[in-house]
Parts: sequence; C-alpha cells; structure tokens
Amino acid sequence: MSPEEILKTAKNAGVSVLAITDHDVLDGSRELLRLAEDYDINCISGVELDVVEQGVNFHVLAYNIDLNNHRYDCVKFPEMKEVCDIIHNAGGKAILAHPGRIIKTDKSIEFKNILKSLISKGIDGIECYYPSHTKEITDTCKEVCRQHDLIKTAGSDCHGDFEDTIIGQLKTKIDEINILKLI
Ligand SMILES: [Zn+2]
Repeated sequence: MSPEEILKTAKNAGVSVLAITDHDVLDGSRELLRLAEDYDINCISGVELDVVEQGVNFHVLAYNIDLNNHRYDCVKFPEMKEVCDIIHNAGGKAILAHPGRIIKTDKSIEFKNILKSLISKGIDGIECYYPSHTKEITDTCKEVCRQHDLIKTAGSDCHGDFEDTIIGQLKTKIDEINILKLI
C-alpha cells in the first residue's frame, strides 16, 4: 500500500490519529506527512526499529521523531537503552511494539518483570492494543502503563494485502489511549 492508499483507507475507517511505521526507513512517514494536509487526520511520523536486549529481538516504535535526523539509518540491532536515547535525542517517543508477540511466557508476573526491565532502559510507552494480543495481555500492558505513567498505544500492524489485519480494525477509542502525549 502507498501512503496515499493508507490515508484514504484510514479516513474511511474513521481513524483520527495515524502513523506509518515502516521497518528502519522513514520514507513512508515523509510521504505521509506531505500528503496529510489534504486529509483531516492527525498524522505523526514513525518508524519501527529492531532492538536486541538479553538475546531477544524486540521491536520499538519511534513516534514523532524529527525526520531530518538520519541516525536511524545506521543503527542495526542495538540495545534498548541505545535506541531509546537515539529516539529521545530526535525529540521522539519510544514505544515497545506488540510485546505479546515477542515475550514468550504465559506467566503474568514474568511478563510484567520483563516489561519493567525494559522501562528501566527508557521506553516511554507500550503498544497495549494489538490484533493478536489477548485481553489478558492487553490488560497487563495497560496496568503496567498506569503504574509507570507510560503512553498506551494501539497498532493494527497492517502490512497491506498479504496479512489479515486492516487499518482501523481495533476501533480503539481515543480516550482509552493517552495518545495525545505522543503529539
Ligand atoms: Zn513489529
């Protein structure tokens, strides 16, 4: 999907705040922000980065970063603290993407402890709402966000036609996610 198709689809689905978070490249965000003026949707820049922490490949969403900052392009598999520092230096927020897809444990306490160790490295928020998250995982993420005053976000992780998710499918209410902290 092109950024223009994404904007049109999001508009039709009633999305009010939108980011394109391509893996490691900022071109989608640049295009989105250029087109956004013609649509009544609040668009923010974003990119999804790979992080390796304690041998696990986490994904981190960098939101509202200064697109003139090119340092992302040369970062490959850094640790969580390094990525958070880079995002913060670019004026952005570091959001832990879909932890339910990455953290392989069904023990709630263990899941929480891993989230807490990542918070200590500098993440600003957690993608609580995600298509494959169970209600239990979403609730755990929300609870940790509340305890640590973090940003809660929602992502469709829509990759276009070859995956099952669609833009706007989560129907997350804007007041369920304190997303205005991102903007
Ligand atoms: Zn991801």
